[in-house]
Amino acid sequence: MAQQQESKAGPARAEEFVDDTTDAAAREEAHTGRGTARPLTVVGNPVLHRECREVTEFDDALATLIDDMFASQRAAEGVGLAANQIGVDLKVFVYDCADDEGVRHVGVVCNPVLDQLPAEERVLDDGSEGCLSVPGAYHPLARPDYAVVRGQDAQGKPIVVQGTGYFARCLQHETDHLYGYLYTDRLSKRERKDVFQQMAENTPRYETVPNDQP
Ligand SMILES: [Zn+2]
Repeated sequence: MAQQQESKAGPARAEEFVDDTTDAAAREEAHTGRGTARPLTVVGNPVLHRECREVTEFDDALATLIDDMFASQRAAEGVGLAANQIGVDLKVFVYDCADDEGVRHVGVVCNPVLDQLPAEERVLDDGSEGCLSVPGAYHPLARPDYAVVRGQDAQGKPIVVQGTGYFARCLQHETDHLYGYLYTDRLSKRERKDVFQQMAENTPRYETVPNDQP
């Protein structure tokens, strides 16, 4: 996900959430140091528009992929990145994103599933959203300001990640990616047109994978 251009708190729950704030800077630095930045796929590339495969092997290849994803995220100055954004058909996303209190969260989720919040707990935040696979464009999109994602860490251990503010938006955005949806799919036709216009008028600050088809 692209950097923020806004943000509130959600309900706290008595549940065991993963600690993704301790040593956040050092952990991001370590991943990035081992990884290699790869060019990013953009809207229209088929890998972004279908559901990715489940991660079943929690091995060295996965660890390398995660390092490369952190390096790619850093190179593109993003706050979240899904594997299909570097052309890899696997349900993995990484993040380096601040919550509604400005606390930095760094982590990885494999096979994420988003909790559906009860309607009475949903507070919508209509902040602006952007995506590294839709370079140079932003559009407001209403999403719940609190999110919980269940999945696994790089070793396959079950984890639960909780997010507020822009980080909640990030968790929803990245999970969407792995099911084949971009944020533009949640916009109206007219809004989408505006986003693609913005994209056409801007040159990405990072390397992208050209789309073959017309
Ligand atoms: Zn995105």
